[in-house]
Amino acid sequence: MCGIIGYCGHRPAAPVIIEGLRRLEYRGYDSAGLALPATGRAGGFSVLRRPGKLAKLENALTNARGVMNATFGVGHTRWATHGEPTEVNAHPHCDNSGRLTMIHNGIIENFQELKNELTAKGYTFASATDSEVLVNLLAEELKTAETMRQALSRALGRAEGAYAIVVMDARRPGKVWGARQTSPLVLGQGVGENFLA
Ligand code: GLU
Repeated sequence: MCGIIGYCGHRPAAPVIIEGLRRLEYRGYDSAGLALPATGRAGGFSVLRRPGKLAKLENALTNARGVMNATFGVGHTRWATHGEPTEVNAHPHCDNSGRLTMIHNGIIENFQELKNELTAKGYTFASATDSEVLVNLLAEELKTAETMRQALSRALGRAEGAYAIVVMDARRPGKVWGARQTSPLVLGQGVGENFLA
């Protein structure tokens, strides 16, 4: 279990997220990743993930064009519990449509049962993580929920275990949602900016 950062405000998000991840480094981790809103007409998210040290993610970010001006985003340092420390298993994870991107710390104990259910509905999974199951479960709940809050409460109501998550929805730019069960997640309220960690 490692670190989560969510930022939403008036400053460029990437440096805030990287600095936040650096401060969480002491907790140890095997991979790091972040998601920022993508530039261009297609929308969605730019997701960068790297196994290994945070410096590898920073290097990838330096070469990524267009995302440095984004003012909201999420970042993660992973300590693998389900799946090897590889790029495809690193967070953030997206749902099948690419609309949602989620970061998760902790363990979803009943992920296999949920995965079987979603697979039967046609969902596919690129990673070996329990986390990718959760973001797709949220996508499924969003089909019938009236709000993100309702979808989150339904999806998390089915997830067993100790966890903290942050999630972004491409259809609701500028918003970052956070939720937790047992694991810590704190909200920092600033002036014109908010943080989750
Ligand atoms: N269970 C998740 C995974 O293996 C999250 C691990 C963590 O807390 O960093 O990817």
